[in-house]
Amino acid sequence: MKELIKTKNFALIFSHQGPDGDSVGSSVALSIYLSKIGVENKIIFPDPYPHFFSWITGINNSIVASENLEKVEQLYDASDLIFCLDFNHRSRVGKALQELISRTNNKYIFVIDHHTHPENFGNYEIIDENASSTAELIYKFIDSNNDLSLVDIPISEAIYTGIITDTGSFKYSSVTSTTHQIAAFLKDKGLNQVVIHDKIFNQNSVSKINLLGYALQKIKIEESVSLALLFLTEKELNMFNYQKGDSEGFVNYCLSIKGIENAVFLREDKDIIKISLRSKGKVKVNEFSSKFYEGGGHQNAAGAAVKNQDMNTVVKELIQNFKVFCSE
Ligand code: 5GP
Ligand code: MN
Repeated sequence: MKELIKTKNFALIFSHQGPDGDSVGSSVALSIYLSKIGVENKIIFPDPYPHFFSWITGINNSIVASENLEKVEQLYDASDLIFCLDFNHRSRVGKALQELISRTNNKYIFVIDHHTHPENFGNYEIIDENASSTAELIYKFIDSNNDLSLVDIPISEAIYTGIITDTGSFKYSSVTSTTHQIAAFLKDKGLNQVVIHDKIFNQNSVSKINLLGYALQKIKIEESVSLALLFLTEKELNMFNYQKGDSEGFVNYCLSIKGIENAVFLREDKDIIKISLRSKGKVKVNEFSSKFYEGGGHQNAAGAAVKNQDMNTVVKELIQNFKVFCSE
């Protein structure tokens, strides 16, 4: 695979909409690696990444498509290799970019991801739903090219960022001994995990913490389906000067309640309501999400978005749908 990649002139690395730590970390790690093996490249973020990732070395080799679509189109025309990281359906990059990456003419499409139910649109795909993160797959990809000697501190930090953000810092069931072995390798490369955790997780503004306090008081329990639910409208978010990423992790507070096995967090964002689902029992939230909301994700962590609907109606229907799903 490395030989084929090295024949290409210019690669674009696409992240999914609403870039998270794994899409950012895997994209940056791959970008630095490609540069090291002589393949020029650029990362394309469909929309801006949260500010607490801006410290990552190598993240500046990127363009935010929602801020400069024309430039992205130019780069796309100039590219002959396309990486799609941390997603396996083209719809995950948003409408404009979806059309763009569907115009494949002579471009080699390479998908690296760890989600279920792939669309299989790539010329070559590394899809492992058992991997903790796409960042872990990037490590394995570099390893499979016998290039672990190229892994430096910036690549280590980017891979580590992807792993910790997608595993709740090594807590989730997706973590294997391999995940820890990779972390050990990165540590041996000189990675300072204390600094990284601080830069990612200890960057809360006072207004974000106040928003959390407000949100925690709004959690509702649906005992019959062991569900904790929380929703925030745009008006509520604005009361706390909401910044992108401020509600990251709120859904996990719902799941931390004793006896609760399922959690949902809904956030209004202009004409969209973003749904985050989590479970720690037998309910497969990706199947629920895909069945009722054309969403997807993993068995224990999934998401979806609904358009042009009133929050109260969406919440009511979601509880109803969840009851139906759990009784099936
Ligand atoms: P989060 O709730 O953190 O936004 O997302 C949790 C998981 O669900 C992630 O693995 C993410 O890729 C997936 N996910 C989130 N939103 C969507 C969506 O709108 N569509 C699909 N197919 N997956 C989503
Ligand atoms: Mn991921």
